[in-house]
Amino acid sequence: MRRRVVAANWKMNHLAQDALRFGQTVSASSAFWGELDVLVFPPATLLMLLQRILSGTGVGVGGQRCHPAASGAFTGEISAPMLKDAGCTHVLAGHSERRRLFGETDQDVADQLRAAFDAGLIPLLCIGETEQERLSGRMEDVLDEQLDVVANLSSDESADLLVAYEPVWAIGTGRTATPEQAGEAHAFIRTRLAVRLGRDVAQGTRVLYGGSVTSATFPSLLAQHDVDGGLVGGASLNAQSFLDLVSQARK
Ligand code: PEP
Repeated sequence: MRRRVVAANWKMNHLAQDALRFGQTVSASSAFWGELDVLVFPPATLLMLLQRILSGTGVGVGGQRCHPAASGAFTGEISAPMLKDAGCTHVLAGHSERRRLFGETDQDVADQLRAAFDAGLIPLLCIGETEQERLSGRMEDVLDEQLDVVANLSSDESADLLVAYEPVWAIGTGRTATPEQAGEAHAFIRTRLAVRLGRDVAQGTRVLYGGSVTSATFPSLLAQHDVDGGLVGGASLNAQSFLDLVSQARK
């Protein structure tokens, strides 16, 4: 049985007062979650504040990306050891906004996975096809290529890795994938993970769905056998709507 994960990606949103309010509301209900992993990926400015408010709740805090180098002359960047030092447990890698808007390649993502594991962070690898790729029948090829970045992980690292299937056409558009579309893509991802990491590891890998998740769509997505939780953008900005998703994911 894979333990579910509900993760909030705040992107470039929220100030300290928002994080305080969110943290206080979430802390007040965290004792009732049971068997569930809850993660929040705030902007870097809020990492330490949120980590402090949420400490003792079991909620993990993560960075939205890391630079592959541990330190150096990279103005504006944040390294994996710095995220670890700020109290992070996780880091996103390969979010489609990073790929599309900032030109990150699969090689960059592979380097980030290496940096994350070396620093003691667990990466959440995001993969997904564009609408054009789906319509031209290339979805599986694209997902498969994006999964190549796991090739050089050790077996311990593979066992910890989290994956999110985030169809680019569903992110921030209100067009959630249907449960069938998500179920099919997740099953495919697990099959391809099995080829690279072995069947046992792939069976244990948590694969989250991301793309316009709301409380109206989450339960039917979670009902798919290979969907192990959600990576949530817009609906995670408000503590109560995020908590609604957390309670839907409790088994
Ligand atoms: C995301 O950015 O990872 C995401 C899934 O966003 P949204 O839920 O807003 O589509």
